[in-house]
Amino acid sequence: MNILERYHAMEYGPAPEARNEADAWLAARDFGKALFIGGDWKAASGGKTFDTSDPSSRKLLAKVSDAGAADIDAAVSAATKALPKWSASTGYQRAKVLYAIGRAMQRHQRLFAVLESIDNGKPIRESRDIDVPLAIRHFIHHAGWAQALDRDFPGHKGVGVVGQIIPWNFPLLMLAWKIAPALAAGCTVVLKPAEFTPLTAILFAEICGRAGVPKGVVNIVQGGPEAGGAIVNHPGIQKIAFTGSSEVGKIIRKATAGSGKKLSLELGGKSAFVVFEDADLDSAVEGLVDGIWFNQGQVCCAGSRLLVQEGIADAFIAKVKTRMSRLRVGSPLDKNTDIGPLVDLTQLDRVKGLIAEGAKQGAICWQPDSALPSSGYYHLPTLATGVSPANILAQEEVFGPVLATMTFRNTEEAIELANNTRYGLAASVWSENINLALHVAPQLKAGVVWVNGTNMFDASCGFGGYRESGFGREGGREGMFEYLSAKLPLGPIIKPATSSAQPVEQAEGGAIDRTAKLFIGGKQVRPDGNYSFAIATAKGKLAGEVGLGNRKDIRDAVAAARACKAWPEATAYNRSQVLYYLAENLSGRADEFAVRLTQLAGATAKAARDEVELSIERLFLYAGLADKFEGRIHQPPARAVTLALHEPVGVVGIVASDNAPLLGLISLAAPALAMGNTVVAVPSEKYPLLATDLYQVIEYSDVPAGAINIVTGRSAELAGVLAKHDDVDGLWVFADAETCAKAEAESIGNLKRVWTGNGHSLDWASNEAAGDALLRRAIEVKNVWVPYGD
Ligand code: NAD
Repeated sequence: MNILERYHAMEYGPAPEARNEADAWLAARDFGKALFIGGDWKAASGGKTFDTSDPSSRKLLAKVSDAGAADIDAAVSAATKALPKWSASTGYQRAKVLYAIGRAMQRHQRLFAVLESIDNGKPIRESRDIDVPLAIRHFIHHAGWAQALDRDFPGHKGVGVVGQIIPWNFPLLMLAWKIAPALAAGCTVVLKPAEFTPLTAILFAEICGRAGVPKGVVNIVQGGPEAGGAIVNHPGIQKIAFTGSSEVGKIIRKATAGSGKKLSLELGGKSAFVVFEDADLDSAVEGLVDGIWFNQGQVCCAGSRLLVQEGIADAFIAKVKTRMSRLRVGSPLDKNTDIGPLVDLTQLDRVKGLIAEGAKQGAICWQPDSALPSSGYYHLPTLATGVSPANILAQEEVFGPVLATMTFRNTEEAIELANNTRYGLAASVWSENINLALHVAPQLKAGVVWVNGTNMFDASCGFGGYRESGFGREGGREGMFEYLSAKLPLGPIIKPATSSAQPVEQAEGGAIDRTAKLFIGGKQVRPDGNYSFAIATAKGKLAGEVGLGNRKDIRDAVAAARACKAWPEATAYNRSQVLYYLAENLSGRADEFAVRLTQLAGATAKAARDEVELSIERLFLYAGLADKFEGRIHQPPARAVTLALHEPVGVVGIVASDNAPLLGLISLAAPALAMGNTVVAVPSEKYPLLATDLYQVIEYSDVPAGAINIVTGRSAELAGVLAKHDDVDGLWVFADAETCAKAEAESIGNLKRVWTGNGHSLDWASNEAAGDALLRRAIEVKNVWVPYGD
């Protein structure tokens, strides 16, 4: 054997991380009292425990208290009791606590890392170099937000008691993402880790005691879905922050509907890893290894769909296979290990089942010829080629070490394939042409896009999804909003519409009979059902008849809104000009609209005039803000900048109430339009003529066809159709409480972003009901990471 052959034949020696400290920690704890409630350690009131074991050996690590509803109740009581003092403490006081947590975690960094690897199975290199340092950074970063609240979030305050539920794939990091912003905002928390990975949260709770966290501010309860459900449904909780599967996210969206609880959902993904032919292929291969095999692929933003340009596909796949053959599968505590075991047998079985089904559907699954350790839930890295876009491996989140590969011919096809998923968490784009990468990034429906990189995270940058990957952001300024609320000035309670007697007698005036139709795709169209309903004047006379829109009309309106590309693709300046023009044209007919308001709603001449004037002013406001409510640039501690872009939500449904029928509609539609959304509006059911009178104003104002669509009819019914429509991305409902609750519950098909007044109108005349608070609802923040340097 010559030297080169010897070199190639050389094996890595074992490089085990010592676990004696972790074992001593495990031995010293009473895990039968593992609920950290009000600063004390408690057993579950029902006496139940669950097992947590080491996935690399299947050996039991601990029997941990399993909380039931009574324990959740106790934790919520403790958090409620601690809330007044904590929320009234100064930002500086809270900052000191957050800083102390971060520093204490630093002192126990190794213990955290070893425990995480033992409990979850992730390689120690990852827990030591990524999970734990990022978690610490989160606390230290958020110490600053505690003190910056007044400066950066004027008018906002903490939401109150927060219920937080996290998954097992990044137990400590997800805990940090949840607890740090909540404490900075002055909230108190009840957090439940996942049942596979309770350990680092227990160590964290110990640290809270030592870092001066007041009793009851942080409560950590252990348990499974039952405990999670008790948190979700607890009336003493004002916000739920959930990270986990889209399936459970939908259950939670439904369960919290109508409760008024603030909700953020960080869910699953099926992220695209797009490699263009001009990419640096070797770097892209390294990125891919990190993208899909980091944490055994049990990563929400795993780059599990490789899209590679046809011309380089064979060469690239060959490189990937070579690299896969060198991945070391082994003990999580070995510092040379690349791939550890999956977290649990159920997960291993699920991954195997999905691979078998993918193969049945035509995928060719390849694995390197490597040996697996004899015990533990290990699975070899797997590459699936010949995957059709409909294959289960291209559509379902595997949450394991499985990469599905497809090819594309050109940029358009790459974007189309990348977006061909119900998820929208992350994407990677690889090209040495930065112009191309930055051309593609905004077109990807994903909350995070990494250019020539993957899995870059930082506490200063928002992270979160589009579509069924959930809503809300974690991290940085964007994430702070999830734990803060600004009081919007409420208007009257909205009562369910009643069908009153039909007016028959014409109102005086003898004008030519006008038929108010629907406004869809830039045209006035008859309602599909060919029914109309009568509108009464304030004096009970017949003011006119309007089209009774139905499901089909909403479908047509949504299709028109989706087809309208001219509006979302227009420049902000262009949108601003159109909104100014709308204001100008409405102003030209101000008298007519004021008369209409008086005739229909019985407003005094002055009140009517004021409402019209304010409507024009609002159009001006949002015209002006269209090119000013911009994103930011984050500067994470890496050789990268992160562009936090503001993008439109998409197609937004709006259900306006009878209160201030013109101003209310414009106050909702204008910010949505300003940010580039297309709108399907259901105007006031009682006074729709104010909306139908707008058709001509819209027609004269250069609004592209489909940007605004108006469907008159029964608000409750049409809100339901919009809620269930899977091509509606956002829905804002100002209707009676039952309609609002139903809209939230029925939105789960595509997890659209729903905002309701919970049965209240807003006081549209108030300045607080305009501006940033609304614009923020009209956007998604996309964080595009752009690394720099040689
Ligand atoms: P899961 O949804 O099964 O469980 C998540 C948590 O919810 C656990 O704590 C669990 O006990 C609890 N839970 C389960 N059923 C519940 C119910 N009915 N009511 C309330 N709580 C309930 O998910 P998982 O298997 O633990 O984690 C994997 C999922 O998490 C993947 O889909 C992954 O993509 C997602 N994830 C997302 C992000 C993100 O930031 N978007 C980050 C990490 C993981």
